[in-house]
Amino acid sequence: MTGPVWMINIALQWEARKCMDCPACYNPMLSMELHEIEVDHCLACGGIWLDAGELELLLGDRAKAASLLGSLYAAQTSERPRHCPICRHAMEKVSLGGEASPVMIDRCKSGHGLWFDRDELPQVVRTHSFDPEHKVEKLLADMFGHSHKEKKHED
Ligand SMILES: [Zn+2]
Ligand SMILES: [Zn+2]
Repeated sequence: MTGPVWMINIALQWEARKCMDCPACYNPMLSMELHEIEVDHCLACGGIWLDAGELELLLGDRAKAASLLGSLYAAQTSERPRHCPICRHAMEKVSLGGEASPVMIDRCKSGHGLWFDRDELPQVVRTHSFDPEHKVEKLLADMFGHSHKEKKHED
């Protein structure tokens, strides 16, 4: 059953209204479904918010993702704390991925989720050889309407 256009518009506006604000630049984030996982991303700054448990789902390897999350440690930084888009409390800065190529992300102290600045999530995915078929990377690239790699034309 298809409703009249105005009903669809109201539904879309309702969707937009319950969107969270970006913890980095305060613009409303867009919700997008990726592998049936709801990912909130900010078009303005390119950051990505993952609710608790979504990183594991996104990476598709729960055991590996769990050990990656278990390796998070408090980061030494003078950066201003960001605020969780769900509970609005200051998040903690944590480093992910060990000493070789650490990525500093923000984590809600109450466990609501993780914030990745632009390119940090693809970097984590690449560094830890998740995503051997580059599915996540491609999806993330599509999400932002551009690709990090130039596509070769087949002549
Ligand atoms: Zn933003
Ligand atoms: Zn929170």
